[in-house]
Amino acid sequence: MNASVAEVEDLIQSVTWPEQKAPRIQSILRQISEARNGVLELEFLADLPVEEARAWLEKLPGVGPKTSAAVLNFSRLRKPALPVDCHHHRVAVRTGLIPKSVAVGPSHIVLQAQLPPEWDAQAVYDNHEVLMLHGQRCCYFNNPACHRCAIWDLCPEGQKRWQPKGEVHGDIHHAPL
Ligand code: SF4
Repeated sequence: MNASVAEVEDLIQSVTWPEQKAPRIQSILRQISEARNGVLELEFLADLPVEEARAWLEKLPGVGPKTSAAVLNFSRLRKPALPVDCHHHRVAVRTGLIPKSVAVGPSHIVLQAQLPPEWDAQAVYDNHEVLMLHGQRCCYFNNPACHRCAIWDLCPEGQKRWQPKGEVHGDIHHAPL
């Protein structure tokens, strides 16, 4: 919070747009400290319901639903908040979990509402990881690998894009028609 912006920028060089993120992180830290009477901590969020904790975080500049959910779920707060990144979102659209018209931001509420309410933070985290990794490793933005997709038979978009032809050998998925 009190370091020079250049120092912070240097420390976060490996992220995208460090020059924008460094001053923003410092500004957020100052605002948290001010809101908490000089104490730089977020432990109090553990006692709030997920939606209230997310709303508190999203009042901070530059904090949207993905960041608020990631802070609550990935940290030791371990709350069942679902982050949605672009890979997770793409898979959700293609598999029909959400319509194409629902953008990444609003998709957080819709996709979270589809999860069983009794799921704990780990289960919610796993759901995000599975969808994100599927998007990164199979359901690519360009040319998704529908021919080897484990959920092809459940995916309306995949069935439009690819259909098995004749006998297929090797480890290529034999999808039922
Ligand atoms: S079948 Fe194709 S479009 Fe559907 S989830 Fe799999 S890779 Fe993505």
